[in-house]
Amino acid sequence: MVKSAVLGFPRIGPNRELKKVTEAYWKGNATHDDLIATSKEIKKNNWLLQQQQGIDIIPSNDFSFYDQVLDLSYLFNVIPKRYSEYDLAPIDTVFAMGRGLQQNDDQGNKVVDVTALEMVKWFDSNYHYVRPTFSKNTNLKLNGSKPVDDYLEAKALGIQTRPVLLGPVSFLYLGKADKDSLDLDPLSLLSEILPLYNEIFNQLYKAGATEIQVDEPILVLDLTEKERNAIVEAYNYFHKNSQVNITLATYFGTVVPNLSALKDLPVAGFHFDFVRAPDQLDDVLSIISDKQTLSVGVVDGRNIWKNDLAKSTAIVEKAVSKLGSDRVIVATSSSLLHTPVDLANETKLSDEVRDFFSFATQKVNEVSLIANKLNGKNVTKEFEANAASIKARKSSSITNDAKVQERVKSINEKLAQRTSPFVEREKIQKDVFKLPLFPTTTIGSFPQTKDIRINRNKFVKGTLSSEEYEKFIQSEIEKVIRFQEEIDLDVLVHGEPERNDMVQYFGEQLKGYAFTTNGWVQSYGSRYVRPPIIVGDLSRPKAMSVKESVYAQSITKKHVKGMLTGPITCLRWSFPRDDVDQQTQALQLGLALRDEVLDLEAAGIKIIQVDEPALREGLPLRAGPERSAYMDWAALAFRVATAGVQDKTQIHSHFCYSDLDPNHIKALDADVVSIEFSKKDDPNYIAEFKDYPNHIGLGLYDIHSPRVASKDEFTTKVETILDTYPAKRFWVNPDCGLKTRDWYETKLSLANMVEAAKAFRTKY
Ligand code: GLN
Ligand code: ZN
Repeated sequence: MVKSAVLGFPRIGPNRELKKVTEAYWKGNATHDDLIATSKEIKKNNWLLQQQQGIDIIPSNDFSFYDQVLDLSYLFNVIPKRYSEYDLAPIDTVFAMGRGLQQNDDQGNKVVDVTALEMVKWFDSNYHYVRPTFSKNTNLKLNGSKPVDDYLEAKALGIQTRPVLLGPVSFLYLGKADKDSLDLDPLSLLSEILPLYNEIFNQLYKAGATEIQVDEPILVLDLTEKERNAIVEAYNYFHKNSQVNITLATYFGTVVPNLSALKDLPVAGFHFDFVRAPDQLDDVLSIISDKQTLSVGVVDGRNIWKNDLAKSTAIVEKAVSKLGSDRVIVATSSSLLHTPVDLANETKLSDEVRDFFSFATQKVNEVSLIANKLNGKNVTKEFEANAASIKARKSSSITNDAKVQERVKSINEKLAQRTSPFVEREKIQKDVFKLPLFPTTTIGSFPQTKDIRINRNKFVKGTLSSEEYEKFIQSEIEKVIRFQEEIDLDVLVHGEPERNDMVQYFGEQLKGYAFTTNGWVQSYGSRYVRPPIIVGDLSRPKAMSVKESVYAQSITKKHVKGMLTGPITCLRWSFPRDDVDQQTQALQLGLALRDEVLDLEAAGIKIIQVDEPALREGLPLRAGPERSAYMDWAALAFRVATAGVQDKTQIHSHFCYSDLDPNHIKALDADVVSIEFSKKDDPNYIAEFKDYPNHIGLGLYDIHSPRVASKDEFTTKVETILDTYPAKRFWVNPDCGLKTRDWYETKLSLANMVEAAKAFRTKY
């Protein structure tokens, strides 16, 4: 019998129940009991749903109030000292580590004030985990027994589950040393942490668990010999010291380069991702020993497309023919955490488009169907319906636009190249713009006030007419323009009041996108996103941003920057297609944006910024040809979007949320880039930009904090950068857009920034 398995299910609830109760708890509007009750309800529904669909191996401990990695830090007492000083309840300690905590007493005095731990992207997904932070003072020990509690909770409902935990090597590898212990290598704690894991495994075994899923996703990264040896050491240790069966799971890539660590590893079985890396099948089959099982991940945990059941079944069959059906398991490729909960909650999709999709609930059913098929059950009807859906999507007019496909073919180097090289454009632009040294600008958005959100909602609901809404937006633009004139910024922006989100706003105007009403996916903690879905060939039917930019430019003598979201960011922050490669989708977006850039230029906008904050995160997990290929096509897509303008038009771009390597952006050939930088104090990092040939604004203040940055702070920052970076290419700007800020700190900080920049002009 081929078994079926799910590696993890979304924990946010079908209607964001988890977000609602945790945010209410943080505000004091829900009790601890409410939290627990909601969590029990969500877990129960998830387990029952999977049981009803006939899943053999159902996960437990995939639930978390905030983040599963953070839960492990708590479980192993990896809790920096600052969180233990206030005698917080366990759940409040976890929340404080995840999001920081400030509490005032009745007089308004701060009684608790701790910052959060660092948050990092989970591999190449849009999920963020809270980074385990180790110090020489970390006292590793067991703190509670969450995995066992969750297992028992399911057992009490009559459901046997397979507990899932992030494995020790990945847990340490994904962590970092705290500021007080910078020379500590987290991996050196392996021998200390193994007994703790083992204790949990033994407790689970005693509680009745026969099998545990231990995730080591780092096995898809480039590992050193030492890291591979750590895997060998860890799983040999568990083999010796615990009786429970371990399925070692990896996902998001191929394990082939690390196969040496897995060969002869004494675990009960492996799980691999055959959606992302179907080619690894033969290689991994060669290392499965006589008694080991192979879990074949064929239902995509990262995307929303209906599975091609026949294709997936064929992959699993190959494993069955080698290992026999009793040693093969059909599974999701990874946890389903990265997909929305249930397609049944979507009410606004057309029937045709709905038939393309499969959310977590539907994916559970797909796993079950593939297993049934392999076990000889009659699923002919379901397989036929599935084949018809797959075929319909392939030939749909929504998917295919011959004109767009033709246009992509016409892309060539010339189309993607500015007329003259930067040195010449620089001279021309100098004459056009006559900007002072240390020109000041912002990244685009200004505070998205409550008033803006209220009016937008009214407009969407239809209680505000489009004329009224347009008037309102114009008044917001005018406010932003007047303020920038008042503090004497050099290059102005319109403030983006009309945008709900930097990708969704454009997606809604592009042909080829679909949107969900309830397709929420956890991004971090209680923050969920609803990624738009690329369903077909992409094009721009009409101008998307020209009206607002032109209005802004019409009311001021200063230059106003047009503001667009770049092709890579549109791609990365959407669910991409799985039937066309990402390069093609990026190039289609590049062409659509090219039309917009040229329309902006024709309408008299002389500076145009195309934001690419997601450029860095799209970088493939492994070094090598795939990574350099990505850099090539990503840069090409950006240049397709921007290179059509005249030499005198100035192209800007912006990057944030990551450690950017200047080599990643040279090929974009933007005239000016702005980069998040204020928290990067490392002089070596600044030095990396020294030879970057075009102009840069290294972000001078943190826009995530409500603090007002003083003129002195700006002066010091600029001086530090000037030690390595030349004044003649130096722009002055904040780290990122100001949409999450209030006007109060925005006004003061920006005015200080301009004052500081002016003082430098007299010195150079
Ligand atoms: N122009 C956008 C803004 O200012 C850029 C946002 C971003 O980089 N995340 O909001
Ligand atoms: Zn940014």
